Amino acid sequence: MERKAVRAKLWTAREQADFGQKLSACRRAVLFLDYDGTLAPIVPDRDNARPYPGVRDALERLLEIKRCRLVLVSGRRVTEIQPLLQSRLPFEAWGSHGGEHLRVTGQLEMASIPETAHEGLRIAVERALHLLNEQAIERKPNSVAAHVSGVNAELAPQYLIELEELWEPIAEEFDLELLDFHQGLEMRVPGITKSEAVSSVLSEEPQDAVVAYLGDDITDEDAFSTLRDFGETILIGSEERPTSAKWLLKKEPEGRHIINFLHSAASALNR
Ligand SMILES: [Mg+2]
Repeated sequence: MERKAVRAKLWTAREQADFGQKLSACRRAVLFLDYDGTLAPIVPDRDNARPYPGVRDALERLLEIKRCRLVLVSGRRVTEIQPLLQSRLPFEAWGSHGGEHLRVTGQLEMASIPETAHEGLRIAVERALHLLNEQAIERKPNSVAAHVSGVNAELAPQYLIELEELWEPIAEEFDLELLDFHQGLEMRVPGITKSEAVSSVLSEEPQDAVVAYLGDDITDEDAFSTLRDFGETILIGSEERPTSAKWLLKKEPEGRHIINFLHSAASALNR
């Protein structure tokens, strides 16, 4: 993954206003949104990662706008998103870092995975269960994620080291890749990333579509690199880190940063 160690510039009210002007003038807008850490706070119990208050209303406003394509892009299974989001309107989502695509029509498409990769992921689960319990293991079509958020915080780093030692030989043998994430480790089939998801979406859209992507994860960097020359790439964060995103949108309490962004985009598109 190419990652430029550059400083993202702060996304301020001025950038928001300029973006609003582009949105009001455009014939088509595409907004990509990561879920955890972007629309919802990162919480220890991932089954309870509810969106920030007000996010659902703001998303539903955007979902009603015909010239806007709203796309959720998450590392989660797509089936996990709606129980948390509870949107009254159907939405499009890419799950498992681009391995699953739920269209707004409800049609679900899955990336095809080589048989050997299935075998590697199966063995990875088996080995991880020597170390962690069933609830800590998340099986996805193209990956396995092991979460240490339920482990004693002092011991969690040691668990991650041991897990990496268990998984490295499997990844090598079955041509899979390891990926660190916040409080966990994931083994996944290479070549299925959020970047492929955004490229696939944009291939269905006019070239002059106004595009923005908001995310906070290392896995969002794939999409930032791909989109950097095509739209606004916005890292959600409280601190700077090396990123391919052009902008940094600072986290505010109760998700005010993201709610403002979404409402302001909806108002511009409704103009
Ligand atoms: Mg995230």
